[in-house]
Amino acid sequence: MTTITRFAPSPTGRLHVGNIRTALHNWMLAEKAKQDGGSGKFMLRIDDTDPERSKEKYVEAIRADLAWLGIHPDGEERQSERLEHYEKAFDALVEAGRLYRCYETAQELDLKRKVQLGRGKPPIYDRAGLTLTDEDHAAKEAEGISPHWRFKLDHEEVIDWADGVRGPQKFDPAMLSDPVVRREDGSWLYMLPSAVDDIEMGITDVLRGEDHVSNTAVQIQMFRALKAADIGDSDCPVESASPHFAHEALLVGKEGKLSKRLGSLGCDAFRERDIEPQAIIALLARLGTSQPVEPIADINVLLETFALETFSRAPAKFDDADLDRINTALVHQMEYADVKDRLPEGMGEEAWHAVRPNLETVSGAHDYWKIVTGPIELPEFSDEDREYLKQAAANLTWGDNPWGALTGALKNATGRKGKALFLPLRQALTGQNFGPDMGDLLPVLGEDVARRRLERASGME
Ligand code: GLU
Repeated sequence: MTTITRFAPSPTGRLHVGNIRTALHNWMLAEKAKQDGGSGKFMLRIDDTDPERSKEKYVEAIRADLAWLGIHPDGEERQSERLEHYEKAFDALVEAGRLYRCYETAQELDLKRKVQLGRGKPPIYDRAGLTLTDEDHAAKEAEGISPHWRFKLDHEEVIDWADGVRGPQKFDPAMLSDPVVRREDGSWLYMLPSAVDDIEMGITDVLRGEDHVSNTAVQIQMFRALKAADIGDSDCPVESASPHFAHEALLVGKEGKLSKRLGSLGCDAFRERDIEPQAIIALLARLGTSQPVEPIADINVLLETFALETFSRAPAKFDDADLDRINTALVHQMEYADVKDRLPEGMGEEAWHAVRPNLETVSGAHDYWKIVTGPIELPEFSDEDREYLKQAAANLTWGDNPWGALTGALKNATGRKGKALFLPLRQALTGQNFGPDMGDLLPVLGEDVARRRLERASGME
């Protein structure tokens, strides 16, 4: 079994969390196929047929974001480098009578739609372009007006497919407008190049957002028309000319609505918040599925449970609080080797393990490291506490467990317990009321620093 998927962003902006989710799921489909002993391939396809809006900086940002997330494509294609393939398909479809010329302006089309709606009719293109004669076309040409091109849907050919998420789908082609595939200036809209690429790149599975469902209906007829016109693998029967389609429910904000914020929330914002890429992967892999969202760092575990059948048809709710929770839990599992390049100069493994359970993000380690390196700010101690801290300095010994030894000795010597026993020590040693387990932190401070801080807090210095 071979699974070939693709992620096909238009480089007209940065990836947002919705695109990232689509990319991840397509990558996971291919990786899962490999895990199951088949072959899998995940392609990055840059849909840059719109030269006005496509920007090289976005192509680079898309690559960089995917790399940062750990989503590594097995290959990359660019539509702008494949124009002759679309030209060939175009010629074949013109020849087959599946593309036709139209001249309406955007305003004229808008007016037609309004009239139809006013009459209680669905706003479907009236196919006026199909009735034009050779003379009509010649007249337009003489006026210097170029046509745009539409794909002629076959109204006799019912469109249906078994959607991987939505189940059986059926469309009446007569209820759809013939889509525009090529603009007046010869540039391409997304539909036809995408179908040509999916055929020629052997894409077996197209997983995308449910906003593409009606595009799929149209494209299924395109796949067949292209197949009939001999574009692509000639061994493939017409019935299986299209890939398997699956449309996932959209991602919405936690209040359940499509949110503007999500449309611009991307890797930069995640990096700024010091969110681990694994946290994003763990959350998005399962969000909107029947699987529980858990802090799972091991992609193999996520792949084992990944299945389109578990995807819900209800919108998936993205909540930052879930991401923070997953991130924090993953940080608590991270090994020193995974983070050492991001830790402050001099912070070693023992210190990492001491502060790790208190962190929400890896960068939080910088604040704790300042406690170790000092200077620290001390609260006002009462005379009684200062006396107690003097005793602490005198009782400090340095064995395997200096904190256990110190607090044990002070408990016996003073009868203090609980907060009265621990808090002045923590405050004197760290300047804080809360923080990492002192049993782990004290060895990181070291004997000299610990003694000096206790002495200073007791007023001995
Ligand atoms: N470039 C299209 C988009 O970003 C691709 C859609 C698809 O996956 O086919 O919407």
